[in-house]
Amino acid sequence: MLRIHPKLDYKAYCPLDGSELHNLKVLIPGMRCLADAYCPVCSKNYLVDLPVGQALWSPTILDKASAEIYDLLNIDWFSSLLKKSFLNPSNEEIKPIVHKYCEADRIVIVDCLDFLYGHSLLKLLNVQRYLDHHTDLGCCVLVPTQLVHLVPEGVAEIWEVPISIKDGWKWYTSLQIWIADQIAARKECYLSRAYSHPHQQYYDLKRFTKELPDISENITGKSPVVLFSYREDRLWGRNLKAQGRNIQKLYDKLSKVFPNLVFILVGFGDKEKTKIKLNDTSIIDLRTNKFSREDDRLWMAYMKAADCSVGVHGSNMLLPSGLSRAVVELVPRSRIGNTVQDFLFQIDDNDNRDALLFKRLIYGNESLQSVLPSSVVDLVTCLMSLSKANSVWFRASEGVDVSEIRTPLHQSSIYQSASLNLRNKLYDSNLKSKVVGIIYSSLALLD
Ligand SMILES: [Zn+2]
Repeated sequence: MLRIHPKLDYKAYCPLDGSELHNLKVLIPGMRCLADAYCPVCSKNYLVDLPVGQALWSPTILDKASAEIYDLLNIDWFSSLLKKSFLNPSNEEIKPIVHKYCEADRIVIVDCLDFLYGHSLLKLLNVQRYLDHHTDLGCCVLVPTQLVHLVPEGVAEIWEVPISIKDGWKWYTSLQIWIADQIAARKECYLSRAYSHPHQQYYDLKRFTKELPDISENITGKSPVVLFSYREDRLWGRNLKAQGRNIQKLYDKLSKVFPNLVFILVGFGDKEKTKIKLNDTSIIDLRTNKFSREDDRLWMAYMKAADCSVGVHGSNMLLPSGLSRAVVELVPRSRIGNTVQDFLFQIDDNDNRDALLFKRLIYGNESLQSVLPSSVVDLVTCLMSLSKANSVWFRASEGVDVSEIRTPLHQSSIYQSASLNLRNKLYDSNLKSKVVGIIYSSLALLD
């Protein structure tokens, strides 16, 4: 963490002449944590990213007179946001709602504001580091309203910012003044580095997803629980209708394999427009158009109960990947470089083999129309059977007695149904390849 008060412990250098900048003053107008600074050689005034979040990787410097950006790595989405927010300061009066749990005159601020939900959530996971390892400091969490219920117990204060997450990039002058006052009123103040991708040894998801509603009655006797994390701004298929058809096929095919299936839909979207038709198994459709804390907590309860979560790559997969037992993620071509950024892990996930067994990726074309529902079903059935078996079997080398586990696992109805599906698929594809082979040979003879 970085000490910012009574003195900022940070050195910054002029992007033009390399001189050390003077008069560094902290400014936090939103998601950006900045130092306002002056160069004694070229007499220019700069805004310099402090090493927080993405700025640990790609810090930006802005010339205050010309708004020229200095961004060594050319990470445009990040550097251009600083320019945009600096040139368009918001006059909106933003005053955080303070939830105070204890007095603290020595504090650490965790700035979780961002313009993307996933970025905000990942920053929030940094809070536990201070609760566990810096108990002499009061942890103050600057967080958008949508994430307040995920702040773990033990913080000194929550500074709830009543803005929608997408506006987190904006430069709120009123917020900047409010935060400056908070800092000045304390004896000592630090700033969290708010790592964008914290390791699971520093967060325990159970502490962030506490006291979820009891949904056991709704899934009793149902198995497996398969959840689809739905979104309408990144689709499985060419359009919303195609996505609806894919999800319907996925549900229908899974129902054929698992007669006791319960299929859960969570996420933002219009469930009337893309209604999934019920067959002989159960559906619980919890999709909604608008955020509510109650819905979010309900979604998390089902994610936690899910044997497998399925969805298109993105921040919508963070909580399902961390809470569900297994994941199948559909990755469009343009997101290949971002895979795993949207995965969370349990604190005791430390076996690489399990990570590969239980978190599966399917790579498709940009629209994901190349990903067939039957391929997703194959992976889900594999996760329900052979992944579970292999996870136990691999542990025999560590002295685990597998003899008591293997028989009930193999005899369970889910295992039986899932492995039957896999065997049938292999038989099908053998048959198909034989037929295709015969057709090709016949064509060759005709030639
Ligand atoms: Zn200079």
